[in-house]
Amino acid sequence: ARGTGSVLVISAPSGSGKSTLVKRLLMTVPGLVFSVSYTTRPRRPGEREGKDYFFVSEARFRRLAAAGEFAEWAEVHGHYYGTSQRQIRRAQTAGKDVLLDIDVQGHGQVRKRLSDAVSIFLLPPSFLELQRRLRRRHSDSPETIRRRLSVAKREIRRWREYDYVVVNDRVPRASRA
Ligand code: 5GP
Repeated sequence: ARGTGSVLVISAPSGSGKSTLVKRLLMTVPGLVFSVSYTTRPRRPGEREGKDYFFVSEARFRRLAAAGEFAEWAEVHGHYYGTSQRQIRRAQTAGKDVLLDIDVQGHGQVRKRLSDAVSIFLLPPSFLELQRRLRRRHSDSPETIRRRLSVAKREIRRWREYDYVVVNDRVPRASRA
């Protein structure tokens, strides 16, 4: 209803099926565009530069942060991730809604800066199910799984900071990706 587009934030512990939901929303919601984050994490097979992320060095990331390019940024699983302020502004002036797939720390910053952003926290049906889903990804070592579970526990405690909490009881097919 406003002249400019809205900001939609989605966060979820890994194993909640977030990537499937994000892909579906982008395919089905007209006028919704994805905010492509900057990251220092190495590119995974199948990921495209400028489409999934902008893959940058730590030095470049630090320069961008210092120049005030980020609406928020955080360290997640040992790598830096940041949302481009410029991209959000560009989408909004074009009348588009912007979807931010960011973690709970990032959302904590966004809700202070962009007070009218709408946020969704996606949850697995239970902690046991989350454990099961993460173990099913055979690519991860037991140590990685343990670390992800403890991070998930910490993140889930912050569900009250979100406008909506959605429980994903469908097995996330996209968790293979
Ligand atoms: P992945 O490396 O698996 O793509 O993402 C790891 C986590 O980083 C996910 O929880 C994702 O939501 C989060 N993330 C991705 N981009 C950003 C960002 O720009 N800022 C923040 N704070 N988190 C991000």
